[in-house]
Amino acid sequence: MIYLDHAAATPVSEKVLAAMKPYFLDDFFNPSAAYLPAKKVASDYEMAKATIAHAIGAKGSDIVITAGATEANNLAFTALTSGCPLEASAGKLVLYLATEHDSIRRVAERYGGTEIKVQKNGVIDLGDLKAKITDETQLISIALVNNELGTIQPLAEISTIIREIKLDRLKRGVKTPLYLHSDASQALNLLEINVARLGVDLLTISAAKTYGPKGVGALYVSHDIRLQPLTVGGGQERGLRSGTENVAGVIGFAEAVRETKEHLNSNRKKYKELKKTLLDELQGYELVNKKHSLDSFIVLCYNGLDAERLIFLLEDREVYVATGAACAASKGEKSHVLKAIGLPEAEIAGSLRLTLGQTNTKEQILEAAKIINEVVEGEKKRLRNG
Ligand code: PMP
Repeated sequence: MIYLDHAAATPVSEKVLAAMKPYFLDDFFNPSAAYLPAKKVASDYEMAKATIAHAIGAKGSDIVITAGATEANNLAFTALTSGCPLEASAGKLVLYLATEHDSIRRVAERYGGTEIKVQKNGVIDLGDLKAKITDETQLISIALVNNELGTIQPLAEISTIIREIKLDRLKRGVKTPLYLHSDASQALNLLEINVARLGVDLLTISAAKTYGPKGVGALYVSHDIRLQPLTVGGGQERGLRSGTENVAGVIGFAEAVRETKEHLNSNRKKYKELKKTLLDELQGYELVNKKHSLDSFIVLCYNGLDAERLIFLLEDREVYVATGAACAASKGEKSHVLKAIGLPEAEIAGSLRLTLGQTNTKEQILEAAKIINEVVEGEKKRLRNG
């Protein structure tokens, strides 16, 4: 099998699995229990949280562990609920990038959020951002790396704009807070992240996209923000995320973060080379995400072909690729991201997303390119022959 869909899921390494295993077997205790072995588990959990937080330049007490990126994104939006009349502010409270993941779009819609446009290359239209921020805007959500194109957004530049707006509000006595949230789920295994340098107030990360277990994520929350819990109960995670801690998951997340950080630079170098090899070998495609995107994301357009069919034909040859976000694809929806960058319907229909990962080798890429070329040629022939 040749797996080229690492933006959808990443495998857990033997080392990560080994780090998690004791917490299912001998150290299974509830960290809130009173006896000594449970207290040791609680301490291991806190250490793991500190490791995860350290990877984004934060402290363990700055992050809330969640059951993945979707929950962290939803939790971030509760920064809004304290004392804001939703009906009165509909459409003005929240701004989000047109290319955001559905876990942002769907929750932003609840607040009547407004989309910020992207340019043809997938990068934010800063003019549109500036034009849409009003005195009522409280939250702006922009993913650090887009999950379909791999586009890196200029967050530091965006946070500078936001800081200026905050200063201006202060001068004019406007008391509305303004927060910057970023979904960095796709970025943690590929970029150095530092919350202070990025200038974000809230940041989502995910173990599932960082070679850790699925169903574990975290939200970084700056000290001046008060969130509302999505679940209430036993008061874990400082009351923001009640429920017995997912100890093994968090231990696995920490180990995965340690491993990926160690290989960050060598992986990026490897993806650059693999991408070049792949593009040199492939035939008859248009590269959609030419600039400003990570090398591990390769979006190809085969004009006139049906990407859904290509995926099934490639699966028959054991090459696994995607058309876009896995959750949208499973519902048969066309990519809102490719629409947002202005790709015509016919080109969207012929677009494939390939995402490289740690286990991919040059041999695999050469083999994948050969199979893709054959499948594409076969489809063209079938269409020619009616
Ligand atoms: N945000 C981004 C950018 C993603 O790529 C994903 C996963 N496709 C999510 C959020 C949701 O992650 P999860 O399903 O693990 O909650």
